[in-house]
Parts: sequence; structure tokens; C-alpha cells
Amino acid sequence: MQYRLVGDTGIEVSALGIGTMRFKSKENAAEMIERELELGLTYFDIGSAYSFKSFDENAETWVGAAIADKDRSKMVLSAKAQPRPGEPRVEAGLGISTRDQMWQCIENSLKRVGTDRFDFYQLWDMSAPEHFSAACVGADSPLTAMREARDQGLVGHLGFTTHAGPELVIEWLKQVPDFRSITVYYNFNDRHPEQAVEYARQNGVGVAIMGPLRGGLLTGESAVFAEHLPELAGLPVQEIALRFLLSSPAVSTVLSGMNEIAHLEQNAAVASLETPMTPEQRERFIEAFREFSGGEAFCTACNYCAGKCPEGLPISHLMTLWQLGGLLRLATMTGQIVALKGNEAQHPSKCVACDTCVEACPQNLPIPDRMERLVALIEELS
Ligand code: SF4
Ligand code: SF4
Repeated sequence: MQYRLVGDTGIEVSALGIGTMRFKSKENAAEMIERELELGLTYFDIGSAYSFKSFDENAETWVGAAIADKDRSKMVLSAKAQPRPGEPRVEAGLGISTRDQMWQCIENSLKRVGTDRFDFYQLWDMSAPEHFSAACVGADSPLTAMREARDQGLVGHLGFTTHAGPELVIEWLKQVPDFRSITVYYNFNDRHPEQAVEYARQNGVGVAIMGPLRGGLLTGESAVFAEHLPELAGLPVQEIALRFLLSSPAVSTVLSGMNEIAHLEQNAAVASLETPMTPEQRERFIEAFREFSGGEAFCTACNYCAGKCPEGLPISHLMTLWQLGGLLRLATMTGQIVALKGNEAQHPSKCVACDTCVEACPQNLPIPDRMERLVALIEELS
């Protein structure tokens, strides 16, 4: 296993982290964590809402039980709660908007995990300005409690997880210099966080990655990779996806929601490579993407076009289907593409080429043209 520093915190973590979101049961969590520790994984991404059934039955209590007799000195624990205006569900760490609620979340999580300290505590899914307001504005904010917990030694460093665009992420890092780590949704298809990731690197902020395999879609075989990138021929797509992320010097750890030992062992082998992809290969990989799309940029899933289509089309989703299924020929996409055939609401043939989305797209992608090609692809695969 390779180890990397989390920004300028001085804390080193395993390049492959332990995502606890997809554990299937207490037994599954115990089995996975046992093997994860054996393989040298150290970074635990814990969430109070994961698999939440009750205060005593959730992914935090499963983690707590699994690590109770283990050497805590080797672990880096990162917990979190979700800031939102509105209805709080404090036990699950959801809808948090006050200092008191956040204090309860921190204390609940410490108790459930059975530890007296978290190395990191994050605001979970702070992805919109109203989330930031609920989390960070005013003396009675959740951020106040996080700072107090840090000052009392219950929490090491503060951070947030986000799906927001890079401009917002950078703005928040500037406004709250206490944030020393971010967790972003990033993979070779969803590249919009790159600007924020680079800003984090330059400013000593650690970066954890979620969604490295886009929920399991960036897997299987792709002949296209072999054709355009002969040096990657024969590698499964999931390995290429991990190598791509791990070759970024900004990335501290890649989180994968693993619940099967075989997947864990495959991913751990990739995270143990000293050079998962050279800088030249990484450049070539990015360049190859331009080749796949005939020189056109890829949709980065930034979602700036969301809600803009007068026909109600989910543009980012359809663009992703087109480029992963049509250009990269990933077999994992076939089911979703074929399913569009009977989906009147989302069928790309509804596109009337009004260009509203093209104007909203920072890359001015030829979206109507790609919709047409997706229509043809649906027919071809059906
Ligand atoms: S060009 Fe097509 S996809 Fe884009 S907004 Fe218009 S109808 Fe929707
Ligand atoms: S089509 Fe353009 S605006 Fe829409 S998600 Fe993709 S890159 Fe962003």
C-alpha cells in the first residue's frame, strides 16, 4: 500500500481509503475491515447516516464493533454530519443547522465508533450556497461546534464533502481557512472538480475522492482504451480509473465503497503501485479522450445545464451515457442505454435543437448532435 499526506496536516493515509457507505451488514463490515487493515488501508470515511436503522444499528456502530480490538494508532478516522436548513434528524446526522445539533452529532458519532477522537470531521455534502449558510454562517452555526470540538482535541482537522462546482468549493476554502480537507466526486468521466483539486493542492488542503468508479459503472473491458492507449491494453476499466486518480499528486486517498473482498484486493493492488500512471501517460490519457470524441471536449458532468432543457431532458446523464456507452463502449452502460427506448420522458429524440443547453455549457458542447447520435446508439444496441 502507498501512503500520502493529507495536505499540510502532517497526517499520512493509505492511497486507498475505506468507504463505509456500502457495507451490507455488521458482519460484512467486520469481514471487510479485518482484510482492509491487513492490506494496510488506514483512512476510514465514516458517515452517521450510512445504513442508519437506529442509534445503535448503523454503519458507525458496525465500524465501532469491527475496530474495538484493533490498533487505533494505525487508523485515521474521518466522520461527518450533513448541514441543511430545515428538519433536523440529529441521530442520523442529517439536517444540521445549529451549534448544539452539531455537538450532539459529534458526541453521538464518537460514542458509536467507540473512540475519543476523530482525526477529521467533515460537513457532509455541502454542495450549495444554502448548505454553506446552514453550516458556516453565524455564531450558532455547526462550524462553531466543529471548531470547539477541535479546540478541545475531540477532532483533529475540519473539512467538507461536496458535489458543488469548483468555483464554490474554492470560495468556501477561501472563506473558511479551517477547512484542511475536501472530499469530491471525481473520476475520469466527471472531471469538473479538477480546478478545485488543484487549488486544494496549492493551498495545502488534502483531497479525498469519492465516486472513483462512478458507482460501479467504470468497470469491465473497453476495446477503445486498448486501441487509443496501447500501454493500458488488457487492463480492466476499473484499474485504469483508479490509476488515473492515483496519478494526480493532489489526491490523498481514493474512497471506494467496497463490500466484497475480491474488489478490495484488486483495488488495493492498484493502490500499492509506486507509479500507477506516469505524468506522460496521464497527459496521453486525457489527450486520448479528445481523440475518442473527435477532438470535441467531453461532458464533465458539471451540471451547469441542469434544468435548462425545455423538453425536460436530463442532459448530463444522457451525455454520460453517450460518452461511456457510445465512445468508450463500456458494456456496463448498455442496460441503461437500451432502457431509454421505452422511456418517453428521457428519450434523446425529444431534443428540438434549441441550443439553450449549449449556451449554458461552459464547453459549448454540441449537445443536440450528441443527442442524435445517442438516438442511433439506442437503436443499435436494442
Ligand atoms: S438543445 Fe436539446 S437537449 Fe439542449 S436544451 Fe434544447 S432541447 Fe434540450
Ligand atoms: S453538457 Fe456541458 S453543462 Fe451539461 S453537464 Fe456536461 S459539461 Fe456540464
